[in-house]
Amino acid sequence: MELKQALEQLDALERKRFAFGAADGSIYLDGVTVAPRDTSAWRGVAMSVLAGESHKLITAPETGELLDFLWERKEELDGKCRRRVELLRRERSQLERIPTEEYMEYAALTNEASDVWHRAKETSDFELFRPVLEKLVAFNIKFAGYYDSSKKPYDALLNEYERGVTMEYLDRFFGTVRERLVPVIHAIGEKEQIDDSFLHLHYPVEAQRKFSDYLMEVLGLDRAHCTIGETEHPFTLNFSSGDVRITTNYTEDSLADSMYSVIHEGGHARYELNVDPDMDYTCLAGGVSMGVHESQSRFYENLIGRSEPFIRAIFPKVQGFFPQQLGSVTAEQFYRAVNRAEPSLIRTEADELTYCLHVMVRYEIEKQLIGGTLAVKDVPGEWNRLYKEYLGVDVPDDKHGCLQDSHWSGGSFGYFPSYALGSAYGAQMLRNMEAEMDVWGDVARGDLSRVSGWLKEKVHKYGRLLEPGEIVKNACGEFDPTVYTDYLTEKYSKLYHL
Ligand code: ZN
Repeated sequence: MELKQALEQLDALERKRFAFGAADGSIYLDGVTVAPRDTSAWRGVAMSVLAGESHKLITAPETGELLDFLWERKEELDGKCRRRVELLRRERSQLERIPTEEYMEYAALTNEASDVWHRAKETSDFELFRPVLEKLVAFNIKFAGYYDSSKKPYDALLNEYERGVTMEYLDRFFGTVRERLVPVIHAIGEKEQIDDSFLHLHYPVEAQRKFSDYLMEVLGLDRAHCTIGETEHPFTLNFSSGDVRITTNYTEDSLADSMYSVIHEGGHARYELNVDPDMDYTCLAGGVSMGVHESQSRFYENLIGRSEPFIRAIFPKVQGFFPQQLGSVTAEQFYRAVNRAEPSLIRTEADELTYCLHVMVRYEIEKQLIGGTLAVKDVPGEWNRLYKEYLGVDVPDDKHGCLQDSHWSGGSFGYFPSYALGSAYGAQMLRNMEAEMDVWGDVARGDLSRVSGWLKEKVHKYGRLLEPGEIVKNACGEFDPTVYTDYLTEKYSKLYHL
């Protein structure tokens, strides 16, 4: 085989994988947006066939030969091409390591688990979910050995979500977060709470939709390449660097819910739209990892979106959309209201300050579960104990406790820490950005173009060309969690006059 011919085969292989992914994404998007209610069965069949074909494609012997051939000639390949081969080989060897029967059994289990979890959550019945969770934990411990038997099981799982991240790294990070932020949260508890009642007046969906359009404009999201839809749980879906979809969910008695989910998903979208289009149709397209992706969404949502200059810049417009509700409210009051911090039970509704502690509870539990020092039956007790210790709240039932998140039912152990890491990475990026440009002057004018440009240069454009750790280093320098905790301490000390 000639090198040229092999490269053509590589392109063809990647385009096929792209097509499977695009088909899967379209069917998924249809299912959660406009499809009629009782129609999930045909989509389930179509999606499992696509998943099977995509799996076959990467594990086929011909694919192995092609990738080996190219890897042997890696010195002759350009950087992007070499990286594509490296990533495809990595993915292939990972899939090969799990025996097919176990892979199938696990797929059936997660499918079942999702149903059981929904029922268990509705009725707040942990005992119903317990047997399935026990199996999921056992599978993940086994899989961890397949992924990398030289690592401790939970380290091997963490590495699947955020390559290079270990328990040692996270213990240091969460240790700092806990030590520095728990006293701030307790101090706020002694102060008079901020009034945010005007955020919970009646906000008609139609006006909120127009407001979302405006926010997309502020974020510089070109509607010819990015649309916004409505789903129960907001998300971002990318087809290519020129086609990204975001969704939101409107609640009529809360303005901030949708406002900040649009800005959050908009941050994810900015990332995807800024990836070098040269890498479309290849495995280099798209964001590099969960943690880095969350660093971008949470950058826009919190560091920019909940900053005083941003609120001052957009507030006259916000008042224009909702004159009755906000006519007598000041920008200052609005800024304070969207930053109200209060220990609570539900992670997805948590404020910027307490969010990390919710993640920390999950991290501690996963670490013990996968490490074998906590039995599944003891999860609710441990969960409630940690919520009391970190956040000072009493968990009334498992629905508002350990059954609230879908992640474990989907077989994801080691995923949660990425949310917290992303927040901390973002804070460090902001500090570096401030050293290079007048961030707040731009934000005060409602102009986010240079902010996006900076993130594009340091993070977005690379797609998966670099490892997550290299991108973090590129944009943050040496990771230092105190930058994040200092940022939060300073912000909240001012807000609550601590
Ligand atoms: Zn996100």
